[in-house]
Amino acid sequence: MAIRVGTLIVIMCIIAAIDVQGIGASSTYYDLAAKDFGGIVSVRPLAFLAISKSDDLARIVRLAYISDDLTVAARGNGHSINGQAMAEGGLVIDMRSVESGHFGLVKANGSTYYADVPGGALWEDVLDWCLAQGLSPRSNTDYLRLTVGGTLSNAGVGGHTFRFGPQTSNVAELEVITGKGQRVVCSEKENAELFFGALGGLGQFGIITRAQILLQPAPDMVRWIRLVYTDFDEFTQDAESLVTAPEGQSFDYIEGIVVVNGDDPFNGWPSVPLHPNQTFNSDLIPQSAGPMLYCLEVTLHYKKYDSRTAIDVTVDSLLRQLRYVEGLDFQADVSYRDFLLRVKWEEQAARAEGAWDKPHRWLNIFLSRTDIAEFDHAAFKTILKDGIGGRLLVYPVLRRNFDDRTSLVLPEAEIFYIVSILRLGLPIPNEPSVGRMISQDKEIIKVCEDNAFDYKLYLWNFETQEEWKRHFGKKWGMFARRKMMFDPKAILSPGQNIFT
Ligand code: FAD
Repeated sequence: MAIRVGTLIVIMCIIAAIDVQGIGASSTYYDLAAKDFGGIVSVRPLAFLAISKSDDLARIVRLAYISDDLTVAARGNGHSINGQAMAEGGLVIDMRSVESGHFGLVKANGSTYYADVPGGALWEDVLDWCLAQGLSPRSNTDYLRLTVGGTLSNAGVGGHTFRFGPQTSNVAELEVITGKGQRVVCSEKENAELFFGALGGLGQFGIITRAQILLQPAPDMVRWIRLVYTDFDEFTQDAESLVTAPEGQSFDYIEGIVVVNGDDPFNGWPSVPLHPNQTFNSDLIPQSAGPMLYCLEVTLHYKKYDSRTAIDVTVDSLLRQLRYVEGLDFQADVSYRDFLLRVKWEEQAARAEGAWDKPHRWLNIFLSRTDIAEFDHAAFKTILKDGIGGRLLVYPVLRRNFDDRTSLVLPEAEIFYIVSILRLGLPIPNEPSVGRMISQDKEIIKVCEDNAFDYKLYLWNFETQEEWKRHFGKKWGMFARRKMMFDPKAILSPGQNIFT
């Protein structure tokens, strides 16, 4: 690759002036910057830098700002699907090394606590640090080996979102290095434009080096429950009644899983029970059931000293209102930490199957409740009826818990569903090629377009600015204006493909 003289000088300045712990000299380390969880896109950076101090990171961004053409991509844990954390011919920063391990507890008014953590910290480490103080982040993603800055640049959604909103609604303050290399502390009250821009901002306005995360007292245990439905309308009505019920009259975590109505070990009945001593009695499924089953997944938090009888009574009274197939309900008591780390155990199983390193094609959609039944017919029961060798999620959340001042865009409806088609590479009959997965996704998006569904894609990587403009809709003007304010030379997160 030809390197401009100006760029070369910048690189030499970086190496000479800054405490770079690692530079992409060893090919394995360097290769990491050209790889992500998707395993489909791969572009080579000029260098992959591990820097320990955020001051040095600011100096690097300033040098890139005055260079002719250098771009800078923050790389969290590389769990993007389409090269969003890559920078072709640019600098990729290993955020895991920046200010790593510098955690602090901030007490605000009353009994409110925040964890002050580095942007490159893994949520798993944040959780463990908080649990040691008897606290926990309020809103968690399903998988915690993601970084704080990585999910805050998107939204960070999961089974607590219906109550507390996404992770972007649970942050009090950020420290951000803008595209001009300026280090700025921002919050709702101070530098609000940058604060709300960076939340859900796809890394376009600055690199998040610190974040203050809202906490709550941690439960010790959860009652983890899965309830099987054959009727999609009954499943959605029950899920919506639970997410709209007041706190104390519902569960603490609510998601939904779609499984194949068959004995396929990874995609069907055997994937539902929560414990090896539980079996799925398929005789209980009525003849009228379709190709897919729907599984409401909920938890109730409790403390070790709470009486099990009291928990049973609360659970029974909540379950009594629901219309799942009797006998197809599964319960387990696990520690709160084990529950939040559940996908890590799935990761280990997927690695053992050789599935974790396969290419992964994911499609995430926020879709209005008014369109979800039609989507079920056209997508789950038709295009995806053989399963996907991974997780198919569908669960409702409330728009009012998302802060509209952030960069994230949402459907118009007050209740919308998070639909996640998460192909993990587990075996399925007639496993499709990557090309077939891409065309499946296009078919599903076409269903949404042709039916004029009220929807937005989440974690998607559009190819042209025109498509991004359509995606942002009426927020595009604000997004572009913030870009001019904070990263006028468009050097940050080039892998998102929004500005050049
Ligand atoms: P990366 O993929 O490394 O980066 C993502 C983007 O953010 C890039 O553009 C990058 O440049 C930018 N970026 C990274 N760090 C910073 C920073 N500090 N400051 C500014 N910009 C930054 N998402 C959910 O919402 N809920 C889930 O439950 C969930 N589960 C997942 C499970 C798995 C197995 C995987 C692979 C992904 C999951 N995701 C989930 C998606 C996840 O939120 C995104 O992949 C997200 O990008 C976080 O990953 P990361 O920290 O590795 O960031």
